[in-house]
Amino acid sequence: MAKQVVTRTYTASIGNQQQVSDDLDALGFAASKLWNVGRWTISRVWDEIGYIPEHDELTAYLKSHERYDDLHSQSSQRVLQELAEAFNGWYGKRRNGDTNANPLGYRKHRDEHPRSTVTFKNKGFKLDTKYNRLRLSKGSNLKEYWSDFILCEYQTRPDVDLSTVESVQQVRTVWTGDEWELHFVCKVEIEVSEAPSEQTVGVDLGITNFAVLAYEDGHAELYPLNCLKQDDYYFSKRIARCDDSDSEQATRLNRRKSARRTHYFHTLSKHIVQRCVDEGVGTIVVGDLSGIREDEENGESKDWGKHGNLDLHSWAFDRFTDLLEYKAEMEGITIKQVFERDTSKSCSCCGRKRDANRVERGLYVCDECGMVANADVNGAENIRQKVSPILVTDGVDETHSVSSAHQNAKHSGDGDRSNGWLAQPSTFLFDKETGAFAPREQVTS
Ligand SMILES: [Zn+2]
Repeated sequence: MAKQVVTRTYTASIGNQQQVSDDLDALGFAASKLWNVGRWTISRVWDEIGYIPEHDELTAYLKSHERYDDLHSQSSQRVLQELAEAFNGWYGKRRNGDTNANPLGYRKHRDEHPRSTVTFKNKGFKLDTKYNRLRLSKGSNLKEYWSDFILCEYQTRPDVDLSTVESVQQVRTVWTGDEWELHFVCKVEIEVSEAPSEQTVGVDLGITNFAVLAYEDGHAELYPLNCLKQDDYYFSKRIARCDDSDSEQATRLNRRKSARRTHYFHTLSKHIVQRCVDEGVGTIVVGDLSGIREDEENGESKDWGKHGNLDLHSWAFDRFTDLLEYKAEMEGITIKQVFERDTSKSCSCCGRKRDANRVERGLYVCDECGMVANADVNGAENIRQKVSPILVTDGVDETHSVSSAHQNAKHSGDGDRSNGWLAQPSTFLFDKETGAFAPREQVTS
């Protein structure tokens, strides 16, 4: 076992909610107002010179703005940083041709400002783990003569002890919809097992097969979204029957729906990490989110509609990747994210890229080398190869480019790999009764 320092976020409730909620509200509203000022400023800069400012430029520009002093300077800085990052992220997607990416909105609902999350960095909070108290700094505008800070009494989960963590890096005040809670972002030392092996696996995330795994030895696993689809269909129908979408019943149904999703993602990420441990995987390679868009191009999103509008947004993939990373790191497995461009269009066997290659839905057929594979498996294998290109063992110099290695692989007939490719990938289904993933019985004809 080895030791490793990782980041963990612990949630805590606030015991003296009533005493502090007005003050926390004021900070939450202030963060929304500052966000809006920043949002408006970005638009103006964009209209004037066609450029999106980075967060430090935005901060320098707005430092003297009245709203900046509503929060502690580090908290204000964080609001503008999140805004600039989100804006640049959106712009990046748009530049890559994603016309569906929505530009960022203002945080305002009629005349109301929502309660935004406020982040406090080291100078903005003081933690007393002996008496479970947390002091949060206000900005100079909100300091009243009787207090310039907010004193919260917090309660963490019983298994969490903040006095034993390496350090608390940040505190966030988060509005849950009912009340305020605290998130402590901590550095924690954990025991991890040594990386079991140098094997790699490629993971392709999508909306038909939520996850597809391609292992180095050529075998592959599919994780379809069947159960989530059924769940969504069931809840959507029940929610549609509610008189009012804001009603208590509808809210309860929505909560149950999202709790079940969270459970599904937890179970799946745990299962995948366990599979990787079993298979001696040391590195998991995950594609980034551009794959979702490619699926839409192929008409998959229309299919979704038929299945009860499963509204699986990109955040679900982000969240899943986070869970996977968290669980993998406990096992000493590294996660690498790679850009997904062309991974669904290229042949993972010979490297040939052609749109027409995908001749049949769900099946990737390459005219060049004759490979036939499940299209998602082909994508996952391409993702894997971004980190670990195929190296052919029969005397080919490892410094050769990937494509020449591919050529050699083709000519030398690399039997094992192509056998693996032709083999049927195994499919794992979520079993509602056991709450676990189990391989679907193979039908032998
Ligand atoms: Zn090919």
